[in-house]
Order: sequence, then C-alpha cells, then structure tokens
Amino acid sequence: MNKPGQLAIVVPCYNEEEMLPITSEALRASLDDLQSKGKITSDSFVLFVDDGSKDKTWELIAAEHEKYPERIYGLKLAGNVGHQFALTAGLLTAMECSDVTISIDADLQDDIHVFDEMLDKYADGCDIVYGVRNSRKKDTFFKRSTAQSFYKMMNSMGVKTVYNHADFRLMSKRALKAFSEYSERNLFLRGIVPLIGFKSDCVYYERLERVAGKSKYPLKKMLSLAWEGVTSFSIKPISFITFLGVMIVILCFLALIYVLVSYFFLEVNPGWASTFLSIWFIGGVQLISIGLIGQYIGKIYVEVKQRPRYHIETFLSAKKEDENV
Ligand code: UDP
Ligand code: MG
Repeated sequence: MNKPGQLAIVVPCYNEEEMLPITSEALRASLDDLQSKGKITSDSFVLFVDDGSKDKTWELIAAEHEKYPERIYGLKLAGNVGHQFALTAGLLTAMECSDVTISIDADLQDDIHVFDEMLDKYADGCDIVYGVRNSRKKDTFFKRSTAQSFYKMMNSMGVKTVYNHADFRLMSKRALKAFSEYSERNLFLRGIVPLIGFKSDCVYYERLERVAGKSKYPLKKMLSLAWEGVTSFSIKPISFITFLGVMIVILCFLALIYVLVSYFFLEVNPGWASTFLSIWFIGGVQLISIGLIGQYIGKIYVEVKQRPRYHIETFLSAKKEDENV
C-alpha cells in the first residue's frame, strides 16, 4: 500500500514549441484534478526536460515556470542526447524530489486520463504501472506495422518488453532507485524496466493523434532504437552465427556424398570435387570460429555492463518490516 504522494510528471521535449503550451495546460489541469481527488499531494509538479531543442522550447518552459513556479519545473540538457537519455535525466532528477513519477511524451498521444488509474494501482502497492495502447487506429499504417513487428522481433530475440507499451509509465521512488543502478550507456528503457522487478501492472488506453508538431521519430531513429534494443539486450545474433556455421558444416557432409557420387559415377571436371568441398567446409569452420569468439565477446559484453544482479524489495528484520530498502 502506498499513501498519496508527491507526483512528478516527466516530459522529454525536443523541438516541441508548438506542443508545449498545450501540454503544459493539460498537465496542470490534470494535476489540479488529481489533487482535488486526494490522489496526490499539493506539491506535485510537471518536469519538462529540454533535450537540446533548436527552437523556442526552453524559453517556453522557462516562461511557464515563471508563471507557475510551484507546478512547472524545467530541466535543460546541455545538448540533444535523444529521447531515452533525456527521459532518464528527467526521471533521475525527479526521483530526488518526489515520491512517484509518470513519464509521458510531450505530444500527448498517450491518454492523460489514465493517470487516475495508474495512481490507483500505485496506491494498491504497485511500483511500476505500464501504459499500454489497446489500439493503434490513429497511427499511420506504416507506423503501426513497423512498431508491431518491432515488439514481435524483440520478443523473439529474448528481450522482455511489454507489448504495445512505449515510455508512458508510472514508477515509484524505489523502482527509480533500482533503475538508477543500471549504469549502462546503451540504454533501452523498455527493456530495462521489466528487469527491475517489483509489483507491476498495466493500464490500457487508446493512442491518440499528435495534436501539433511533427513526429521526432522518423524511420531512421526507429531503426536505430530497434537495433539498440536488440544489441543491448541479446547476444542471440552471435549465437546465430555459430548455429549457421554448424549448419553449413552439416550441409558440407551431405555435399560430400553428392560429390563422391558425382566423382565416381559421373563425368566431372578435374579439381571440381576438392574445390567444392573445401569452400563449404572452410566456410563452415570459419563461421563456427567467429561465432565461438563471439560467444566470449558476448560474455565480456554482459560483464562490462555491470548491471545490478538483484534489487531488494522488502527487508524483514528483527525490529520491524522496513519497506523502503
Ligand atoms: N524527443 C526527445 N529527444 C529526441 C527526440 C524526441 O526528447 O531526440 C521527445 C519528443 O519531444 C517527444 C518524445 O520524445 O516528447 C517522443 O517523440 P515523438 O512523439 O516525436 O515520437 P513518436 O511518438 O512519433 O514515436
Ligand atoms: Mg509521439
């Protein structure tokens, strides 16, 4: 069980001057509403993170802060570091000065009306609540199909992600503390958060259209996010090389039968049999060797990430149950 706490809504912004006033107003109204329902305390706030925008985003954030110093906080990053790092910067900053955070994109495509439900689950003792889209009707066909194949591919690569969940989620202070121990540079939040553990749940909503401004995630950035997701979570591609090598060597033995039959019973050019076999055999052996080296590199890669191996959820000691370990 969690008492109503100080909520921080964390919003990464990159060239969002068109959205910012709209977003700020909507989020302020939402905070007032949640506060009047007694779900959050009166010192709750919105934290806008300016990810090195080239337009007036920061000026607008500063102006909003000027007008509503209690409600609107701003964090300006030194340069553009990308959505994942901007969000991390915001979350870790908010962690220090709030009890619970909700991260949401500046374009309000994620439904702010589910904050209520998220906070109810938090009150029930959830440390992480994922916002999950139950439909993508409003996305273009291209965006919908590429995004969905992305989730499928990630799962088949063994990366645990929540299907149709982007970075719209509630995280408690202790879930964030645990997250802050992941020091890796190849950051893919959607893959990391499920690794943290703790009690978690999902809320479902309809994904809306971007109200203003353009998507900052063109195909190139989406592909690079997908690549980041696979290569920072899975060493399956390396194992695949080893597998390929083994398959080729097996095929080589099948080819051996074919070559011997041809050699003894059919007319073949001199040198054909030996050339044919050696190309296949050497090819297979090389792939196995590369794959084998890859396995070691894969282990080094897992080690250098120095991910925390566990997080303590509850600590039962002789004195009393201490939930905030
Ligand atoms: N964003 C960011 N840094 C970047 C790119 C995007 O902080 O380099 C922010 C952007 O302002 C928005 C969120 O990340 O709040 C998601 O971007 P967008 O809505 O353009 O992505 P889409 O919803 O189209 O995938
Ligand atoms: Mg968006």
